[in-house]
Amino acid sequence: MRKSNDPKLKSWVEVPKGSDFPIQNLPFGIFKTNYLTAVAGVAIGNYVLDLVYLYEKGFFDGIGLPPGIFNQEYLNGFIGLGRKKCGEVRERVSELLRSDNDELKNNIAARELALIPMEEVQMKMPILIPNYTDFYSSEEHATNVGTMFRDPKNALLPNWKHLPVAYHGRASSIVVSGTPVRRPKGQIKPPDAEVPIFSPSKKLDFELEMGFITCANTELGSSITAADAEENIFGMVLFNDWSARDIQTWEYVPLGPFLAKNFASTMSPWIVTLDALEAFRVQGPKQDPKVLPYLEYQGKKNFDIELEVAIGANGKETVVSKSNFKYMYWNICQQLAHHTVNGCNVQVGDLYASGTISGPGKGSYGSMLELTWNGNNPIKLADGSERKFIEDGDTVSLKGYAQKEGVRIGFGECIAKILPSL
Ligand code: CA
Repeated sequence: MRKSNDPKLKSWVEVPKGSDFPIQNLPFGIFKTNYLTAVAGVAIGNYVLDLVYLYEKGFFDGIGLPPGIFNQEYLNGFIGLGRKKCGEVRERVSELLRSDNDELKNNIAARELALIPMEEVQMKMPILIPNYTDFYSSEEHATNVGTMFRDPKNALLPNWKHLPVAYHGRASSIVVSGTPVRRPKGQIKPPDAEVPIFSPSKKLDFELEMGFITCANTELGSSITAADAEENIFGMVLFNDWSARDIQTWEYVPLGPFLAKNFASTMSPWIVTLDALEAFRVQGPKQDPKVLPYLEYQGKKNFDIELEVAIGANGKETVVSKSNFKYMYWNICQQLAHHTVNGCNVQVGDLYASGTISGPGKGSYGSMLELTWNGNNPIKLADGSERKFIEDGDTVSLKGYAQKEGVRIGFGECIAKILPSL
């Protein structure tokens, strides 16, 4: 076990009970304040630790980091140093924050400058994302959608259990949590109409997803094996892949999602490292039929991460779904192996989303499409109103955390408010 993951570790920085950011987590992000430009930081309790300051004061001496590595508006340079080097930084941060380490704890002046209260920072996109891929890896989600739109008897298409289905998405419209999202407009064909109309989407939906971020550049023509995949993955985020179901149903044939998906996706600002998730590995669902050899893997490659979706309306929040990342049929190693098996290269900062993560029960579906069964069974919210899909002014927030032995590795906030179409 990594020293930094020891459940017994305590920090001298106060970490409130139930915080997503105990000393065992230490996720990386990019923040700015009124008086500082955007730089790299680590979350601890209700504080952000300024990595530029620590670097400049020599706290990372001996790790061999390039100058200015944290003084950048994206983490790409840092994560591009690779899993090992980034892991050394996380271990060093853990050491500096341990209750039995005096280096920073007893240096009052340095402490004051290095720790910034979260309410004084603004979180930015942590990564400049060169490429974005969206998988479709939850069997329950694919079954629900196939049942609704095609044939309940053959809900999964013949390829689904043989390969992790995915499409290439749009990176430019991925925004950080807190950024408002405008309702998209587009072509919609009402079921009884002969020709499409142009209209704001009437079926705006969220998709409960997680994404992983790669930390290597590979050569075109080369492949990453399932066994080597994790070496190329820095960490994970929460991801709401907003979808306009009415635009989607008209446009997606024959090439797949386009304008129904590329108007916005919301991502959480803190990247939780795979290192921090080490203790939460679990076995994935049994894969039957047997997969081709390049998709075989050893060990536990799924993660037990509790997920939750809440809709906020008129000042009241309603939890509408509780799911778990462990339900994913295809794990992240298989996804990356499949993605590169044809020689497709990966880049530092690429985002690979899981696809909507639905669980087995009705309360665990990861989209309104499934929760209301395409609007047929509206959901009652805490303010007394009903929802078939997401309305203007609603906020949708995702939560995610892995928890055991009193340690909670949380993902922070992934929230956005819907603005009316222009
Ligand atoms: Ca999606």
